[in-house]
Amino acid sequence: MMSKVDKELIRQLVDGQISRHDARTLLRMENKDSERFAVYLEVLQTRVAWSDRILLRISDHLYVVSRHIDGQRVVKCDCGQEFGDYRCNWKTAARVRVKTSAAEFAGVYYPPAAAPEPEWNEIREFFCPDCFAQLAVEVVPPGYPLIFEVLPDLDRYYRDFLGLPLPDENPDWYQDLTVSRTTEWAAATPEQQS
Ligand SMILES: [Zn+2]
Repeated sequence: MMSKVDKELIRQLVDGQISRHDARTLLRMENKDSERFAVYLEVLQTRVAWSDRILLRISDHLYVVSRHIDGQRVVKCDCGQEFGDYRCNWKTAARVRVKTSAAEFAGVYYPPAAAPEPEWNEIREFFCPDCFAQLAVEVVPPGYPLIFEVLPDLDRYYRDFLGLPLPDENPDWYQDLTVSRTTEWAAATPEQQS
């Protein structure tokens, strides 16, 4: 009964429509428990058109899912576009727009004086290659490696924090494989190396 109420509240929360009062009620509830996380995932799952199991939402549009076809854990956009193994930085599979000039910065920052200095910084905007949703922005010195924002230890989270171990637990899951992906690509396109 309580979880039904919960589900509607959580839907409102996810949609940004929850009232302040109800948000406080959620915050005050005793059990910030695995059940509520399960309801949250259920709500998320109803909002996407695909059926791969959502393990975690990592941003407005991106999820780590367990792909039902092969059990791979991949990053997936709500539109269905996949960004490959979640252990590789998904940004390496996104479209990127890099802004480097003061004029471009002025279009993003207000007031313009708040903008970073060109030459010392660049703005990288990442987009989904399929639905073109903006997925992330980073402001970094030119040449700085892509920031890998989220590499969750999913097995540990599900087992130790939720008490709901994933069926495909494996110590191999939790590692950063980004370098292996970029190395592979570099080998495949040697002419682009400088
Ligand atoms: Zn998309």
